[in-house]
Amino acid sequence: MKVYLNGKIVDKRAATVSVFDHGFLYGDGVFEGIRSYNCLVFKLKEHIDRLFESAHSIMLNIPLTKKQVTDAIIKTLQANKLKDAYIRVIISRGNGDLGLDPRRCKGETVVIITDKIALYPQTLYKGGMGIVTVPTVRNLCEAVNPQIKSLNYLNNILAKMEAINAGYQEALMLDHLGYVAECTGDNIFVVKKGHLYTPPQCMGSLRGITRDAVLGIARKLKISAHEHVLTRHELFISEECFLTGTAAEIMPVIKVDGRVIGGGAPGKVTKEIMKEFRKLTKLGGIKYKI
Ligand code: PMP
Repeated sequence: MKVYLNGKIVDKRAATVSVFDHGFLYGDGVFEGIRSYNCLVFKLKEHIDRLFESAHSIMLNIPLTKKQVTDAIIKTLQANKLKDAYIRVIISRGNGDLGLDPRRCKGETVVIITDKIALYPQTLYKGGMGIVTVPTVRNLCEAVNPQIKSLNYLNNILAKMEAINAGYQEALMLDHLGYVAECTGDNIFVVKKGHLYTPPQCMGSLRGITRDAVLGIARKLKISAHEHVLTRHELFISEECFLTGTAAEIMPVIKVDGRVIGGGAPGKVTKEIMKEFRKLTKLGGIKYKI
């Protein structure tokens, strides 16, 4: 496997960063997770825009233009001859000293990893998954805003561990007031009386690119979709529920905290959206050749 590291395509074994990198020492950096489907990088512009926004918010300079990041991603995919891939772009503050001061860091580290991915087994996409609310609440917007896709994912990792301890694969995270925020690596939607609802970003979630794609699909299918404050109760009484994310794509949820949703099988709207999403992955992206 080949990895992009600071302007060079190197072998996986040579793709190492310093222990003084503030990405390693403090989680000081940003990242993106992107997919390519049959030589089409899905929503690449949107991912690169979000990468630059995350970096801007934490005052991190990306030492490449958006076009250069795009080219570097394509080059890495080509070096690995991958038609279908999961792409991870990481920009860290770079090598500094043991203090927090980012001014001590001497130039950012840029890494692009491309690999194959299968996050969840196909059986879950057919039958749906159960999720569980965990005690760890989502980061406050005033602390580390969840809209920043930073290297500091401990909030999500703690929640993931709590879900695993409870025998589940994914955790439902609430905000500090008890409203639904999102899952550890996915946004959440419910369907009620034919309407689609997802929490607004101010409840503490990442502005998911898959979430935006689903909102676009809803417009196309003339399903009314709303950003709305949701409690666990609304999830429990929903007709359908599903998660969205680049890695998970669209995952039907059939159980929340032991309450069966929509008869315990993926619902009609969810299945329709899954179908449309699959179509979209064949259209909306940047093409490359291998
Ligand atoms: N929330 C969190 C916390 C995430 O890390 C992600 C990305 N894995 C998402 C939501 C979904 O975002 P996207 O659809 O852009 O992948």
